[in-house]
Amino acid sequence: MPSTRALIHAPWSASKVSTALRCPRLFHWKYIEKIKEPEVMPEARIGKAIHKALELVLMGTPQEEATATVRAELPSETEQLRYDRLCVGIPAFTSRIGQFRNRRRVSRQLVEYSLAVREDLSVTQFYSGDAYYRGVIDLGYLFSDDALALIDHKTGARLPGTSITDQLEGYVVLAAAAFRHVRTFWLGVHWVSERAVEWGTPVRAETVIDELMPDLLDNIEAAALAVDDGPRPNPGPWCDRCSYRDRCPASKELRYEPVEYHEDED
Ligand code: SF4
Repeated sequence: MPSTRALIHAPWSASKVSTALRCPRLFHWKYIEKIKEPEVMPEARIGKAIHKALELVLMGTPQEEATATVRAELPSETEQLRYDRLCVGIPAFTSRIGQFRNRRRVSRQLVEYSLAVREDLSVTQFYSGDAYYRGVIDLGYLFSDDALALIDHKTGARLPGTSITDQLEGYVVLAAAAFRHVRTFWLGVHWVSERAVEWGTPVRAETVIDELMPDLLDNIEAAALAVDDGPRPNPGPWCDRCSYRDRCPASKELRYEPVEYHEDED
């Protein structure tokens, strides 16, 4: 059973768990006080735009039309040019996905597919009041041989030392709860800027039940514990990408370390 402190902050998601573990103050502002983000980082906006373009293309919109529609919503030319550079990889990705689909018997494609589970890991609706953990799968393919491939688009840099299973753990747990007949999960990360798809070792359904589900519940408990002491700041390299950094004194201390000045050194 989850602790009361974990239940209070439900529904959890992968980003909510990582925010809590990284900086309780950011968690407090974003998820408890729900303060509107004072500035949205260009990286976040470009990342969202690429996800949207990929979603449209995978759902059948011609690439030129999809990328142009999304591009028009970006607020500056600089961001549009960064977006253009990332879009260059989309045709190669979709053609690779097409070949992959031709080789395997796909029974269903899942694009931006929302999933949620209750605290006992039974399936519920994404916006339901009893959702305990939820997430949106970027792309998935259900095969007729009881396998499921999950692909997560990442527009940022690779995180050294994290395995693909670690990164997609929450999505596998959600997918395993929703598609109980699936015996094997293939996990892939689409590194958009590198135009590469990296696959991890396939995960068996038994491993999801015996290892990944308990791991995920433990991570949620650790996240709930981290934010239990209130909005303590925890400055670090992630402050550079924090939308609330201008209202956070801890970030300023980190970014502008005081330089000691001694008159007699002149
Ligand atoms: S700027 Fe840094 S310390 Fe301040 S809330 Fe954001 S992540 Fe936390």
